[in-house]
Amino acid sequence: MTKYIFVTGGVTSSLGKGIISASLAKLLQSRGYRVTIQKFDPYINIDPGTLNPYEHGECYVTEDGAETDLDLGHYERFLNTPTSQANNITTGRIYQNVISKEREGAFLGKTVQVVPHITDEIKRNFRILGETGNYDIVITEIGGTVGDIESLPFVEAVRQFRWESGTHDSLVIHLTLIPFLAAAGELKTKPTQHSVKMLLEYGIQPDILVCRTEHHINQDIRKKIALFCNVNVNAVIESIDASTIYDVPLLMLKEQLDKTVLSKLKLPAKNEPDLDSWKDFLGRLKNPTAEIRVGLVGKYVELPDAYKSITEAFIHAGAKNECKVKVEYIHSEQLTVGNAIDRLQGLHGVLVAPGFGERGFEGKIEAIRYVRENNIPFFGICLGMQCAVVEYGRNVLGLKEANSTEMNPGTPFPVIGMMEDQKNITAKGGTMRLGAQDCDLKKGTKAASIYGKTRISERHRHRYEFNNEYLKKYEEAGMIPSGINPENNLVEIIELKNHPYFVGAQFHPELKSTVANPHPLFVNFVAASLAFARKK
Ligand code: GLN
Repeated sequence: MTKYIFVTGGVTSSLGKGIISASLAKLLQSRGYRVTIQKFDPYINIDPGTLNPYEHGECYVTEDGAETDLDLGHYERFLNTPTSQANNITTGRIYQNVISKEREGAFLGKTVQVVPHITDEIKRNFRILGETGNYDIVITEIGGTVGDIESLPFVEAVRQFRWESGTHDSLVIHLTLIPFLAAAGELKTKPTQHSVKMLLEYGIQPDILVCRTEHHINQDIRKKIALFCNVNVNAVIESIDASTIYDVPLLMLKEQLDKTVLSKLKLPAKNEPDLDSWKDFLGRLKNPTAEIRVGLVGKYVELPDAYKSITEAFIHAGAKNECKVKVEYIHSEQLTVGNAIDRLQGLHGVLVAPGFGERGFEGKIEAIRYVRENNIPFFGICLGMQCAVVEYGRNVLGLKEANSTEMNPGTPFPVIGMMEDQKNITAKGGTMRLGAQDCDLKKGTKAASIYGKTRISERHRHRYEFNNEYLKKYEEAGMIPSGINPENNLVEIIELKNHPYFVGAQFHPELKSTVANPHPLFVNFVAASLAFARKK
């Protein structure tokens, strides 16, 4: 029978529920349990696909093409197992399901209400992954902060779920903050007490409290929290600030979070956690033998969360190369023909980021011209790859006004364009080329040697494509289409022959990089940048 763990958050947002959930899942997985994590988000959007990255950070895409919250990226990076649409549910989706049922007549004669209809639908969704039989434990992260109006139906659904399930079949972990008042020189437990009191008002007694803190919490503080919040003292778990999120599983192990969870769920603490490869990764991460500076050229650089998976993929690839990768964010809107050299010289590699719309596009083109001409390692992802095609068209093929039809629908040289079957789509949500698709790699290319195989599968999220009408011209001018989609013949990877590393991918490799499997394109880009740094 599947056991359920709910993770709620109190006091403030941004305490890192996603990282705590992923760390706990990692410990349980390393003890031999089959674990998955799902996130329930309180907003009304059906999914974050239509949200501006400034609002919500990166939109993470799963194998099955779901556009999801970036916490799912952490789940995959920690657990090395894929997630799916079922792992991310929003209020919007819950209401959409209930309202469609209402229109079908499923509730004929009845008033449709938040309780029980919305809460029933939430509970049904809590169970979907557990009912597949694939998991011993399902961890559900409830987005938002307890006390928010919008997360109330989720909290109420957790209360009902707890009440309906057996005492040892589910539990609630509440993540809170123990602030340090510098003037008083003291850690304060009151916000935690109040936050738990609020949960109690909603009818939920948390079983475990995970306390975020800048300073160690001593036994006296633990006892005080335990007394005021009705939990065992060993269920007060310290979560101290860490230098890297990848330390958190080990910190939680030290606090015995996994053991406390297992004993409350009456599950055997079989096998000590096997974390050897995780520790090996941390050892490499913390003891680099070299350092490189890589530029990340994008237009959302004010909010690094917009590029979460890319920065994490650099961490994985850096550790693999025993090399610290310092990522420098460069605003593409501020790059011009005149200043590219000042902004980019001295970097050991440049990644041009994914993105949508015209803003900052020309700056990206300029960055690519500079690194192509100066033999600096280049890696373009999605829009970054499309920019590389446009730049090559303009500056090498001599098609001066080459462009993507996304930026200029009237361009005489639409080297990047929209496929016929996409052209009539007017809806915005979920209408892109989304999710995992196969790609065949051409023998003898850099891509084939990097992957070490000829058939790969990568995840997509875009509308525009390389325009195959120009393919021959590009090939003649030295741009190699090294990855081709076997289904529709679309170009998925481009590379240049006479350049130390010039690779563009139409898909998003960063979404598949995990601690256990750093992505080969990132690993090789870092290696090329390191080689470039050493040569200088
Ligand atoms: N805007 C481009 C497209 O839709 C690229 C999207 C992306 O970078 N994810 O094709």
